[in-house]
Amino acid sequence: MAKILLTADRTLMSNYHDNEFLGFGTCAPPNFIPEWFYSFLFFPPLKVEGGIPAAAPYGLRKTEAQLLKEGLDVTVISPDHLEEHINEAKVLGIHAMDPFGLGPASSTLAAIFKKEPYLAKYFQLLMSNPEIQKAKKRGLKIIVGGPGAWQFRYRQKFVKDHSIDCIVDGEGENVVGKLFKAALEGDELPSYYEVGVKETPSLEEIPDIVHPSINGLVEIGRGCCRGCEFCNVTLRPLRWYPLEKIKREISLNLKSEKVEGCCLHAEDVMLYGSKNTIPQDDKLLRLHEFVTKNCDGISWSHCSLAAVASKPKLFSQLSEMILSKQAWWGAEIGIETGSAELAQKIMPAKAHPFKAENWTEVVQDGMGLMHDNMMVPACTLIVGLPEEKEADLLKTMELMDDLKGFRSLIVPLFFVPLGRLKSEDWFKRTEMSDLHKQLLFQCVEHDFHWVNDLLEISFRGKWYGRFLREFYKGFAGIAKRKVRQIA
Ligand code: SF4
Repeated sequence: MAKILLTADRTLMSNYHDNEFLGFGTCAPPNFIPEWFYSFLFFPPLKVEGGIPAAAPYGLRKTEAQLLKEGLDVTVISPDHLEEHINEAKVLGIHAMDPFGLGPASSTLAAIFKKEPYLAKYFQLLMSNPEIQKAKKRGLKIIVGGPGAWQFRYRQKFVKDHSIDCIVDGEGENVVGKLFKAALEGDELPSYYEVGVKETPSLEEIPDIVHPSINGLVEIGRGCCRGCEFCNVTLRPLRWYPLEKIKREISLNLKSEKVEGCCLHAEDVMLYGSKNTIPQDDKLLRLHEFVTKNCDGISWSHCSLAAVASKPKLFSQLSEMILSKQAWWGAEIGIETGSAELAQKIMPAKAHPFKAENWTEVVQDGMGLMHDNMMVPACTLIVGLPEEKEADLLKTMELMDDLKGFRSLIVPLFFVPLGRLKSEDWFKRTEMSDLHKQLLFQCVEHDFHWVNDLLEISFRGKWYGRFLREFYKGFAGIAKRKVRQIA
């Protein structure tokens, strides 16, 4: 086995029954469903051969590709098979998405249910593996990175107790090589490495993945031009991958028997190839022609309501292509607030090319188009923004009423200080007013109204669909009763 092992905890090493939406289940805390059954429903383990998983999180694959490019000896390993291989390893790299459940979705659920979410529990289980601790004593170095790296700043004691040598925060391509080489040499490592703007990789510096990613996820670009105050992404430059690079990664994924579909990942898939906020018809159509011709399923990671609303014809053309292969597709969408006044203060470009003062109309138009074209958005609302007033909350509640008829999930997230607002205070459950609670309840009602419909269309045509659908429905029914008791 290799000198460098890369891994991630069990909640990240899953294909979520080929349905990224189910991955949200890892944000929930342990509950009335027995753990073995909950993990089967929401994050079943990946197939493994000789300790090597059939696929891995895309971010981990990028690190692997970069280290291989620099001539290092590296293997991605399942967290359940570390014991068998860790003795030969000199460095263990760990991918962390939301290691302490401080991300908006998990921290909101944790605050409501007063329990730590599964993803935090499994990250800690991984880090407490006695074999890692034994290997540590004989000199193993541990390097942690990934989108959740920022959370370690709030958990210094954990870093010390688990002898983590280095945390890498930011896009790692230009720095992981030197850090892992230093670790192999036994050199001292910086305890926290924040990747500077000058070290951010250009497109040419980002290697293609060399082994399959979970659910065929491929990045089509990095960064975002909208500049919302509360967002980390906005601090990075905007770069779109050339179509040829995306095609190469999709083709690599499809060579694996375990990957048939593709999830296009960007902060706004609708803006692929665009230097501003206007979607580029040609580029999007060519990308989707390739994906729908070659893949058995497609999803988008994120897109914006404004981009959808700005090009309704293009959006239905894309939808037609996608629906020739499947019944629906999904993406995460940021609504954040129903108050145009608040939108103008904290996310003035989110509505662009429309005016921020028309934010609510943009949301309604975008949501209507998505409903008509069978895109199912998982939308977020931010609760407790530093500048939020009662009038803003009332407007968000009015908007929720207007969105009732649109097939969607709408999730309220407690404000987490990130991006340009990182020095602000966290929003806590104890600060929730009656209006906050009513809004939360409105979201829960909305989601449970649509969840059965979503389950029907999600599992339609799959041989195991009927069986799984009934379990999820049962789970949703019990969850609904529990949430009503808490709200
Ligand atoms: S649109 Fe989304 S990704 Fe872009 S800055 Fe705003 S919140 Fe961040």
